[in-house]
Amino acid sequence: MRIILLGPPGSGKGTQAQLLVQRYGIVQLSTGEMLRAAVAAGTPVGLKAKEIMASGGLVPDEIVVGIISDRIDQPDARQGFILDGFPRTVPQAEALDELLKHKHMKLDAVIELRVNESALLSRVETRVAQMRERGEEVRVDDTPEVLTKRLASYRSQTEPLIHYYSERRKLSTIDGMMAIDEVTRAIHRQLLALGAVEPKSHGKSQASAAKLGPAKKGTKKAKAAKKAAKTAKKAAKSAKSAKKAVKGAKKAVKKSAKKTVKKTVKKASKKGSKKVTKKRAKR
Ligand code: AMP
Repeated sequence: MRIILLGPPGSGKGTQAQLLVQRYGIVQLSTGEMLRAAVAAGTPVGLKAKEIMASGGLVPDEIVVGIISDRIDQPDARQGFILDGFPRTVPQAEALDELLKHKHMKLDAVIELRVNESALLSRVETRVAQMRERGEEVRVDDTPEVLTKRLASYRSQTEPLIHYYSERRKLSTIDGMMAIDEVTRAIHRQLLALGAVEPKSHGKSQASAAKLGPAKKGTKKAKAAKKAAKTAKKAAKSAKSAKKAVKGAKKAVKKSAKKTVKKTVKKASKKGSKKVTKKRAKR
Protein backbone atom coordinates (compact mmCIF):
# COMPACT_ATOMS: atom_id res chain seq x y z
CA MET A 1 0.00 0.00 0.00
CA ARG A 2 1.31 3.44 -0.91
CA ILE A 3 -0.36 6.51 0.49
CA ILE A 4 0.26 10.21 0.96
CA LEU A 5 -0.83 12.10 4.06
CA LEU A 6 -1.60 15.74 3.34
CA GLY A 7 -2.27 18.42 5.91
CA PRO A 8 -0.88 21.59 7.47
CA PRO A 9 1.67 21.49 10.29
CA GLY A 10 -0.06 20.30 13.45
CA SER A 11 -2.81 18.42 11.60
CA GLY A 12 -1.68 15.08 13.03
CA LYS A 13 0.03 13.63 9.96
CA GLY A 14 2.99 12.33 11.95
CA THR A 15 0.81 10.74 14.64
CA GLN A 16 -1.48 9.07 12.12
CA ALA A 17 1.47 7.91 10.01
CA GLN A 18 2.96 6.13 13.05
CA LEU A 19 -0.33 4.41 13.84
CA LEU A 20 -0.76 3.32 10.22
CA VAL A 21 2.78 1.96 10.20
CA GLN A 22 1.87 -0.31 13.13
CA ARG A 23 -1.42 -1.33 11.62
CA TYR A 24 -0.33 -2.18 8.10
CA GLY A 25 3.36 -2.98 8.50
CA ILE A 26 4.51 -0.35 6.06
CA VAL A 27 7.12 2.38 6.53
CA GLN A 28 6.69 6.07 7.19
CA LEU A 29 8.72 8.27 4.90
CA SER A 30 8.85 11.73 6.43
CA THR A 31 10.98 14.21 4.51
CA GLY A 32 10.99 16.49 7.57
CA GLU A 33 12.46 13.67 9.71
CA MET A 34 15.02 12.76 7.06
CA LEU A 35 16.06 16.37 6.66
CA ARG A 36 16.36 16.83 10.43
CA ALA A 37 18.57 13.72 10.55
CA ALA A 38 20.69 15.14 7.71
CA VAL A 39 21.03 18.44 9.58
CA ALA A 40 22.02 16.63 12.79
CA ALA A 41 24.58 14.52 10.91
CA GLY A 42 25.95 17.57 9.13
CA THR A 43 25.72 15.99 5.66
CA PRO A 44 25.92 18.23 2.54
CA VAL A 45 22.10 18.03 2.25
CA GLY A 46 21.77 18.91 5.92
CA LEU A 47 24.04 21.91 5.55
CA LYS A 48 21.93 23.19 2.65
CA ALA A 49 18.64 22.58 4.47
CA LYS A 50 19.52 23.83 7.94
CA GLU A 51 18.83 27.57 7.54
CA ILE A 52 15.82 27.09 5.28
CA MET A 53 14.18 24.74 7.76
CA ALA A 54 14.90 26.95 10.75
CA SER A 55 13.15 29.85 9.04
CA GLY A 56 10.11 27.77 7.97
CA GLY A 57 10.83 27.86 4.24
CA LEU A 58 10.79 24.95 1.83
CA VAL A 59 13.93 23.02 0.91
CA PRO A 60 14.49 22.93 -2.90
CA ASP A 61 12.40 20.34 -4.74
CA GLU A 62 15.38 18.50 -6.28
CA ILE A 63 16.81 17.79 -2.82
CA VAL A 64 13.64 16.27 -1.36
CA VAL A 65 12.77 14.39 -4.55
CA GLY A 66 16.26 12.85 -4.52
CA ILE A 67 15.92 11.83 -0.87
CA ILE A 68 12.52 10.22 -1.46
CA SER A 69 13.60 8.41 -4.61
CA ASP A 70 16.52 6.80 -2.77
CA ARG A 71 14.39 5.94 0.25
CA ILE A 72 11.66 4.23 -1.81
CA ASP A 73 14.32 1.90 -3.21
CA GLN A 74 15.24 0.58 0.25
CA PRO A 75 14.09 -3.02 0.95
CA ASP A 76 11.89 -2.02 3.92
CA ALA A 77 9.76 0.16 1.65
CA ARG A 78 8.88 -2.76 -0.62
CA GLN A 79 5.75 -3.63 1.39
CA GLY A 80 4.49 -0.08 1.02
CA PHE A 81 4.91 3.37 2.52
CA ILE A 82 3.21 6.45 3.85
CA LEU A 83 4.56 9.72 2.58
CA ASP A 84 4.41 12.30 5.34
CA GLY A 85 5.38 15.85 4.38
CA PHE A 86 6.04 14.94 0.75
CA PRO A 87 5.03 16.08 -1.84
CA ARG A 88 4.67 19.67 -0.68
CA THR A 89 4.51 21.44 -4.05
CA VAL A 90 2.93 20.66 -7.42
CA PRO A 91 6.37 20.15 -9.06
CA GLN A 92 7.17 17.62 -6.29
CA ALA A 93 3.88 15.82 -6.99
CA GLU A 94 4.69 15.69 -10.70
CA ALA A 95 8.17 14.40 -9.92
CA LEU A 96 6.64 11.73 -7.66
CA ASP A 97 4.25 10.63 -10.43
CA GLU A 98 7.21 10.22 -12.78
CA LEU A 99 9.27 8.45 -10.17
CA LEU A 100 6.54 5.93 -9.33
CA LYS A 101 5.83 5.32 -13.00
CA HIS A 102 9.50 4.64 -13.56
CA LYS A 103 9.57 2.21 -10.63
CA HIS A 104 6.30 0.55 -11.78
CA MET A 105 4.55 1.51 -8.57
CA LYS A 106 1.00 2.73 -8.04
CA LEU A 107 -0.24 5.29 -5.54
CA ASP A 108 -3.28 3.97 -3.66
CA ALA A 109 -4.61 7.09 -1.97
CA VAL A 110 -3.98 10.63 -0.85
CA ILE A 111 -5.48 11.31 2.56
CA GLU A 112 -6.05 14.94 3.43
CA LEU A 113 -6.42 15.73 7.14
CA ARG A 114 -8.60 18.82 7.32
CA VAL A 115 -8.32 20.92 10.49
CA ASN A 116 -9.38 24.33 11.78
CA GLU A 117 -6.45 26.68 11.50
CA SER A 118 -7.27 28.12 14.92
CA ALA A 119 -6.47 24.73 16.50
CA LEU A 120 -3.07 24.37 14.89
CA LEU A 121 -1.09 26.68 17.12
CA SER A 122 -2.35 25.04 20.33
CA ARG A 123 -1.65 21.59 18.84
CA VAL A 124 1.94 22.52 18.09
CA GLU A 125 2.24 24.00 21.60
CA THR A 126 1.03 20.67 23.02
CA ARG A 127 3.55 18.80 20.87
CA VAL A 128 6.36 21.04 22.17
CA ALA A 129 5.24 20.50 25.80
CA GLN A 130 5.11 16.71 25.29
CA MET A 131 8.55 16.63 23.68
CA ARG A 132 9.98 18.63 26.61
CA GLU A 133 8.32 16.23 29.06
CA ARG A 134 9.95 13.27 27.32
CA GLY A 135 13.26 15.09 27.44
CA GLU A 136 13.43 15.26 23.65
CA GLU A 137 15.04 18.10 21.77
CA VAL A 138 12.39 20.56 20.63
CA ARG A 139 12.29 21.43 16.94
CA VAL A 140 13.71 24.84 16.16
CA ASP A 141 10.82 25.51 13.77
CA ASP A 142 8.12 24.82 16.39
CA THR A 143 7.73 28.44 17.46
CA PRO A 144 4.66 30.64 16.86
CA GLU A 145 6.56 32.89 14.42
CA VAL A 146 7.97 30.06 12.31
CA LEU A 147 4.68 28.19 12.45
CA THR A 148 2.95 31.20 10.90
CA LYS A 149 5.44 31.06 8.05
CA ARG A 150 5.07 27.29 7.64
CA LEU A 151 1.31 27.73 7.50
CA ALA A 152 1.62 30.43 4.86
CA SER A 153 3.84 28.19 2.75
CA TYR A 154 1.34 25.33 3.21
CA ARG A 155 -1.47 27.53 1.94
CA SER A 156 0.36 28.87 -1.07
CA GLN A 157 2.47 25.88 -2.11
CA THR A 158 0.95 22.70 -0.69
CA GLU A 159 -2.79 23.37 -0.76
CA PRO A 160 -2.87 23.32 -4.59
CA LEU A 161 -2.10 19.60 -4.24
CA ILE A 162 -5.64 19.07 -2.98
CA HIS A 163 -6.90 20.11 -6.40
CA TYR A 164 -4.10 18.16 -8.12
CA TYR A 165 -5.04 14.85 -6.49
CA SER A 166 -8.76 15.44 -6.50
CA GLU A 167 -8.58 15.91 -10.30
CA ARG A 168 -6.79 12.56 -10.50
CA ARG A 169 -9.45 10.95 -8.28
CA LYS A 170 -6.94 10.09 -5.60
CA LEU A 171 -8.06 12.44 -2.83
CA SER A 172 -9.93 11.45 0.34
CA THR A 173 -10.61 14.14 2.91
CA ILE A 174 -10.86 13.21 6.59
CA ASP A 175 -11.94 15.46 9.46
CA GLY A 176 -8.68 15.88 11.36
CA MET A 177 -10.43 17.56 14.30
CA MET A 178 -11.76 14.22 15.60
CA ALA A 179 -10.03 12.24 18.35
CA ILE A 180 -6.82 10.48 17.26
CA ASP A 181 -8.34 6.97 17.16
CA GLU A 182 -11.43 8.22 15.35
CA VAL A 183 -9.23 9.73 12.64
CA THR A 184 -7.33 6.42 12.38
CA ARG A 185 -10.63 4.53 12.03
CA ALA A 186 -11.87 6.96 9.38
CA ILE A 187 -8.64 6.53 7.42
CA HIS A 188 -8.97 2.73 7.69
CA ARG A 189 -12.57 2.86 6.44
CA GLN A 190 -11.46 5.01 3.52
CA LEU A 191 -8.63 2.64 2.64
CA LEU A 192 -11.09 -0.27 2.83
CA ALA A 193 -13.52 1.51 0.51
CA LEU A 194 -10.70 2.12 -1.95
CA GLY A 195 -9.65 -1.52 -1.78
CA ALA A 196 -6.19 -0.49 -0.59
CA VAL A 197 -6.38 -2.79 2.47
CA GLU A 198 -7.89 -6.21 3.16
CA PRO A 199 -11.08 -6.20 5.28
CA LYS A 200 -9.39 -8.38 7.90
CA SER A 201 -6.43 -6.03 8.46
CA HIS A 202 -7.76 -4.69 11.73
CA GLY A 203 -4.44 -5.28 13.48
CA LYS A 204 -4.15 -4.55 17.14
CA SER A 205 -5.83 -1.87 19.16
CA GLN A 206 -4.70 1.65 18.45
CA ALA A 207 -3.90 2.15 22.11
CA SER A 208 -1.27 -0.57 22.10
CA ALA A 209 -0.07 0.55 18.71
CA ALA A 210 0.41 4.07 20.04
CA LYS A 211 2.34 2.70 22.99
CA LEU A 212 4.69 0.75 20.76
CA GLY A 213 5.47 3.53 18.32
CA PRO A 214 7.06 2.81 14.92
CA ALA A 215 8.95 -0.47 14.74
CA LYS A 216 12.07 -1.26 12.77
CA LYS A 217 12.51 -4.76 11.35
CA GLY A 218 14.22 -7.20 13.71
CA THR A 219 13.95 -4.91 16.74
CA LYS A 220 12.19 -5.74 19.99
CA LYS A 221 9.33 -3.45 18.95
CA ALA A 222 8.89 -5.28 15.65
CA LYS A 223 8.87 -8.63 17.45
CA ALA A 224 6.33 -7.34 19.95
CA ALA A 225 4.18 -6.03 17.10
CA LYS A 226 4.35 -9.42 15.36
CA LYS A 227 3.37 -11.19 18.57
CA ALA A 228 0.50 -8.78 19.14
CA ALA A 229 -0.73 -9.32 15.59
CA LYS A 230 -0.62 -13.10 16.15
CA THR A 231 -2.55 -12.78 19.38
CA ALA A 232 -5.11 -10.56 17.69
CA LYS A 233 -5.49 -13.15 14.91
CA LYS A 234 -5.95 -15.93 17.45
CA ALA A 235 -8.46 -13.86 19.38
CA ALA A 236 -10.38 -13.17 16.20
CA LYS A 237 -10.39 -16.90 15.40
CA SER A 238 -11.64 -17.93 18.81
CA ALA A 239 -14.22 -15.16 18.72
CA LYS A 240 -15.41 -16.60 15.42
CA SER A 241 -15.67 -20.12 16.79
CA ALA A 242 -17.38 -18.82 19.93
CA LYS A 243 -19.92 -17.10 17.71
CA LYS A 244 -20.45 -20.38 15.84
CA ALA A 245 -20.89 -22.26 19.10
CA VAL A 246 -23.46 -19.75 20.34
CA LYS A 247 -25.32 -20.10 17.05
CA GLY A 248 -25.27 -23.90 17.36
CA ALA A 249 -26.43 -23.75 20.97
CA LYS A 250 -29.25 -21.40 20.05
CA LYS A 251 -30.34 -23.81 17.31
CA ALA A 252 -30.22 -26.75 19.72
CA VAL A 253 -32.25 -24.85 22.32
CA LYS A 254 -34.82 -23.97 19.68
CA LYS A 255 -34.97 -27.59 18.50
CA SER A 256 -35.35 -29.03 21.98
CA ALA A 257 -37.87 -26.35 22.90
CA LYS A 258 -39.89 -27.31 19.84
CA LYS A 259 -39.68 -30.98 20.83
CA THR A 260 -40.75 -30.23 24.39
CA VAL A 261 -43.65 -28.13 23.20
CA LYS A 262 -44.69 -30.91 20.83
CA LYS A 263 -44.43 -33.50 23.63
CA THR A 264 -46.37 -31.32 26.05
CA VAL A 265 -49.06 -30.69 23.49
CA LYS A 266 -49.24 -34.43 22.77
CA LYS A 267 -49.39 -35.25 26.48
CA ALA A 268 -51.97 -32.57 27.13
CA SER A 269 -54.17 -33.74 24.29
CA LYS A 270 -53.83 -37.37 25.48
CA LYS A 271 -54.74 -36.33 29.03
CA GLY A 272 -57.61 -34.28 27.70
CA SER A 273 -59.03 -37.12 25.68
CA LYS A 274 -58.63 -39.53 28.64
CA LYS A 275 -60.58 -37.13 30.88
CA VAL A 276 -63.31 -36.83 28.27
CA THR A 277 -63.51 -40.66 27.97
CA LYS A 278 -63.66 -41.01 31.79
CA LYS A 279 -66.40 -38.37 32.03
CA ARG A 280 -68.35 -40.10 29.28
CA ALA A 281 -67.89 -43.46 31.04
CA LYS A 282 -69.17 -41.96 34.31
CA ARG A 283 -72.22 -40.65 32.55
P1 AMP B 1 7.84 18.70 8.64
O1 AMP B 1 8.52 17.84 9.64
O2 AMP B 1 7.13 17.92 7.58
O3 AMP B 1 6.98 19.76 9.27
O4 AMP B 1 9.01 19.49 7.88
C1 AMP B 1 9.90 20.36 8.53
C2 AMP B 1 10.61 21.23 7.54
O5 AMP B 1 11.37 20.44 6.64
C3 AMP B 1 9.70 22.05 6.65
O6 AMP B 1 9.26 23.25 7.25
C4 AMP B 1 10.60 22.30 5.45
O7 AMP B 1 11.54 23.30 5.71
C5 AMP B 1 11.34 20.99 5.32
N1 AMP B 1 10.63 20.05 4.43
C6 AMP B 1 10.07 18.86 4.81
N2 AMP B 1 9.51 18.24 3.77
C7 AMP B 1 9.72 19.05 2.71
C8 AMP B 1 9.37 18.98 1.34
N3 AMP B 1 8.67 17.94 0.85
N4 AMP B 1 9.73 19.99 0.53
C9 AMP B 1 10.43 21.03 0.99
N5 AMP B 1 10.79 21.18 2.27
C10 AMP B 1 10.44 20.20 3.13
